[in-house]
Amino acid sequence: MQASHITVDQIDALLPQTQCGKCGHPGCLPYAKAIVDGEAINRCPPGGQRTADALATLLGKAPLPLVQPAESPLLAVIDEDICIGCTKCIKACPVDAILGAPKQMHSILRDECTGCELCVTPCPVDCISMVAHPGWLAAHSEQEQHAWLTRRATQGRQRHQARASRIAQWEVEALERRRARRHQHIATPTSPAASTPTDDEALRRRLKIKLARMKQDDPHRPELEAQLQALGGQTVPRAATSAAQQARSHRIALAAAEDTLRRAERHLTHCQRQEGPTEVAAAQEQLARAQQQLERARQALDPT
Ligand code: SF4
Ligand code: SF4
Ligand code: SF4
Repeated sequence: MQASHITVDQIDALLPQTQCGKCGHPGCLPYAKAIVDGEAINRCPPGGQRTADALATLLGKAPLPLVQPAESPLLAVIDEDICIGCTKCIKACPVDAILGAPKQMHSILRDECTGCELCVTPCPVDCISMVAHPGWLAAHSEQEQHAWLTRRATQGRQRHQARASRIAQWEVEALERRRARRHQHIATPTSPAASTPTDDEALRRRLKIKLARMKQDDPHRPELEAQLQALGGQTVPRAATSAAQQARSHRIALAAAEDTLRRAERHLTHCQRQEGPTEVAAAQEQLARAQQQLERARQALDPT
């Protein structure tokens, strides 16, 4: 198959859908889009070497070793005695796998958790830990493992899309509420619900500011653009956001490269303690690649 005929969906279908962002993109679909645009195929630790090889086959490219160590499927676990119910983990979870309410203990939906680790850092009391996913450990044959990964990917994709739509809907509703409050404030007895040019203009301006700050591939974007068009406004041209967008993606790439380097250093330390010379040599090569990647990311962010 010619690489030029490969679609984003075909690539996305091979990605594990944890939505972890470890590839340097805010989810699996943005990484799939970046691969179509020429990005390297070896940046997905949850997918491991198997995913990198499958992408190489699909795209007709030479296989590449992963830039970060491969990861086994994980599950987040909350220490319920320590949780203070701050809800920060809920906001961070890309697949709505956490249940809880303000000031109440939170818990993880075991079968929905993709093991992305995004809830760990925001927790102010450090009560979330990651363990090997029991569902994965219970899959003994290759067939069972394949079925488990397929189910997790299908569910991860659906739940991530559902969450993105819901958040976009909230954004639109919040804007509508603000608009309604403004109507109430300025309405006269003879025209209680009348819209004024000033009113619509203010809403259009807010939508434009939101869109200008939003990434081009943000899943909320189409609904806000539709809202703006419905108000008679123009969508923000791509060129107007490209510089800020590029800087942001360079910062994401730098953060990912720093993370990669930390992992590679940890992996090398582990190999030096517990593995043989072959593994140590491989880990040293991995560390050298991570250092080069970090250097490239730094130069991209600040070419001077
Ligand atoms: S699983 Fe994580 S690293 Fe892999 S493509 Fe999806 S977001 Fe990127
Ligand atoms: S519970 Fe945590 S680790 Fe599991 S999917 Fe949500 S954010 Fe990721
Ligand atoms: S972030 Fe930590 S403390 Fe806050 S609700 Fe989640 S688990 Fe509990």
